[in-house]
Amino acid sequence: MNNNTKSSSKHPPGLFVLFLTEMWERFNFYGMRALLTLFIINALMMSKEDSSLIYGGFLGLSYLTPMLGGFISDRYLGNRNCIMIGGTLMAIGQLLLFFSGSIFDSNLELAKILLYIALGSITFGNGFFKPNISSMVGSLYPPQDKNKLDTAFTLFYMGINLGAFLGQLICPLLGDVVNDGVRDIFAFKWGFLAASIAMVIGTLTLYLLKDKYVITPEGKPIGGLPKHNKGEDYVDGEAQSAKFTPTALGLALLGFIALALTFYYVFGQNIIYSAIYGSGLTLAGLILSDKSLTKVERDRILVIYIVSFFVIFFWAAFEQAGSSLTFIADNQTDRNFFGWQMPPSMVQIFNGIFVVIFAIPMSLLWDSLRAKGKEPISPFKQAIGLLLIALSYFIIAHNVKDLGNSGLLAVKWLILLYFIQTIGELCLSPIGLSLVGKLAPKRFASLLFGVFFLSNASGYALAGTLGAILPPTSEQFIACDKIKINLQGILDSKVEASGEELFRLLNMKIAKLNTDLAQSNNLNIKDRVDNLNKLNAAREKAKKDKKEFTNTYKAQDTTFTAEEFKIIKDKKIIEVKYPTFAGFTIHNLFEFFMVFVVLCGIASVLLFGLTPLLKKMMHGRG
Ligand code: GLN
Repeated sequence: MNNNTKSSSKHPPGLFVLFLTEMWERFNFYGMRALLTLFIINALMMSKEDSSLIYGGFLGLSYLTPMLGGFISDRYLGNRNCIMIGGTLMAIGQLLLFFSGSIFDSNLELAKILLYIALGSITFGNGFFKPNISSMVGSLYPPQDKNKLDTAFTLFYMGINLGAFLGQLICPLLGDVVNDGVRDIFAFKWGFLAASIAMVIGTLTLYLLKDKYVITPEGKPIGGLPKHNKGEDYVDGEAQSAKFTPTALGLALLGFIALALTFYYVFGQNIIYSAIYGSGLTLAGLILSDKSLTKVERDRILVIYIVSFFVIFFWAAFEQAGSSLTFIADNQTDRNFFGWQMPPSMVQIFNGIFVVIFAIPMSLLWDSLRAKGKEPISPFKQAIGLLLIALSYFIIAHNVKDLGNSGLLAVKWLILLYFIQTIGELCLSPIGLSLVGKLAPKRFASLLFGVFFLSNASGYALAGTLGAILPPTSEQFIACDKIKINLQGILDSKVEASGEELFRLLNMKIAKLNTDLAQSNNLNIKDRVDNLNKLNAAREKAKKDKKEFTNTYKAQDTTFTAEEFKIIKDKKIIEVKYPTFAGFTIHNLFEFFMVFVVLCGIASVLLFGLTPLLKKMMHGRG
């Protein structure tokens, strides 16, 4: 069963076990990601803006916690135990989402609390799972077989995306059910339950097969407790030899606090985003402060930092898949796919499909370029990745330009977008991992992977911020039209909203309530809106169960007194306005998409420009 002898050209069977485990784990992660924002908006009645910020924070934290998971594994528990803990935490998190999706109509507050606990559990689960499974892939290969690592990681990346594909197929089919244009908000829970089951299968796969297959060529277990592990793992454990002085660690802590506070107070980021940005920069600084670094090592680390910085913009644009692009697929897209109406959350599946199809051809392309001596260095490939993602948004921006407030985008344009983005991802993501692997001094390898993952985390946080500037989409204009509110006029400030209209816009999550100001003026608007939301959910449920629903809320709940309206107007307690970004107002989808074109386009051009310098710093190794 263990045929990984020195002469073997085959991959060890352990790779297949890790492939399967990761496949099920990514099923759980991406299947749930597909449903998450739609669940938050439609069942938990939160705004698109809030759901996008929660989504960004959740994804960001999921890539911050791998630092912790890697650390605990290296020092105390070992890869295997950490993966078991991670898998269990994620399965529990999904189950909590299932409960949240089961009770939101009777207890919205509890459902929201369950959402946060669930996301916390999944975040920590991912932190324990992700770094450990990747590092075990590296450990399967003895030094003489390290040349197989690139292919091993390509196969592994396919496992990741096969899982993403399956999750984004099954979970939307079960959880994102839209019949005749009406969404069944009670179906989400089944998608979460499927994700939970997938995670249990993944964890069991490893649990049952590890002792037989996840072993070294000599038959010793890989990823056991650290003390039994010495000399066997080539990837993990290495950061332990990095020794920072207490002064450096103390300064790092102070630096972290100062940076996080700056992001919080000066740049107005929320607490989670501030912590993510702050910890990325602090860790980067801490590593550079180490006195034992040689000039060459320092230069190489700087290359990793520069690349990590540019990668942020890629992920910020790429991760719109689960938020703004899903909202657009939901509200402003004709999802007719060869005669079948795709669930909106399923449109993102094309990313996984295209990775599975193109991962091997792309790695063959690099191989053949290398054979001809024409392979570009890694930062150049990554600049191509950034250029491609800018191009994908440029194409979509031009397709939405003439849609107006109610036109529909053909789904083929979103498929094209995912195609171009996937080719970009393949130029950037696996390449980035192997670049860090090649350039990092051994004693800092895990920590530098940490910095690299933190740059992903920062990208996700930025994705949340950028997703939140999505301007109102067609369904909001249509809904307003139906109740004779001129949303366009109000947004353009050509007409003024009445008290009742403001209330309705708040209820429809189009207007924004400044809760602190409302409280300081003794206006309990939030409670009234919450009540209305609960009643709306109860009405939906009654409709679904074909039961009678008696309207219990009173007229005064939906209006403001003249006195209240005056305070609201004077103090700008409720605002209906276009979103803004860096001083620019985003009026429509065209402008929204152009934000990504500009950000990624500039990042790409700068990275192309820096390539000759980076090449020198890498000393010809790329
Ligand atoms: N989709 C890949 C994964 O889930 C890459 C994500 C990332 O590196 N940010 O592993």
